[in-house]
Amino acid sequence: MADVFRIGYGSDFHRLLPGRKLVLGGVEIPSDRGAVAHSDGDALLHAIMDALLGAAALGDIGEHFPDTDPKYAGASSAQMARTVAEMVSGKWEIGNVDAVVFLERPKLLAHRERMRAGIAQALGIDVGRVSVKAKTMEATGPVGNRDAVAAEAVAALFPK
Ligand code: MG
Repeated sequence: MADVFRIGYGSDFHRLLPGRKLVLGGVEIPSDRGAVAHSDGDALLHAIMDALLGAAALGDIGEHFPDTDPKYAGASSAQMARTVAEMVSGKWEIGNVDAVVFLERPKLLAHRERMRAGIAQALGIDVGRVSVKAKTMEATGPVGNRDAVAAEAVAALFPK
């Protein structure tokens, strides 16, 4: 049976520390703490990249952008997302991306349109195909205690 469409799921989690940059969806979010990571720690784009790779059955970002490779130290996740979009574009067109960020503070609603635009630009798709939502963890657990940021995403791919 020919593929009608494919669905992928991705998730990511990064520890937060004071004095670091918080980058989500390829844009910097004003915050007193940011992600501890080998790259820029953009949990939102990392979850989206894994969703896209998952839908295309092309592995995961740990495999394609190993954190043991000095090339990816401080790497721009937007640039990595561009590479992932190119990888899937051989056979697939991105239908849509829907993501949730789990972060206690700051509230992300004010930054949502910038994040959507950043993701759309990185993936080379229309912003109308990108959805970003945000949740707190009601002050419980590592996210609620502001020790971490997490993200989940799904993506749909259509054959070209
Ligand atoms: Mg990550």
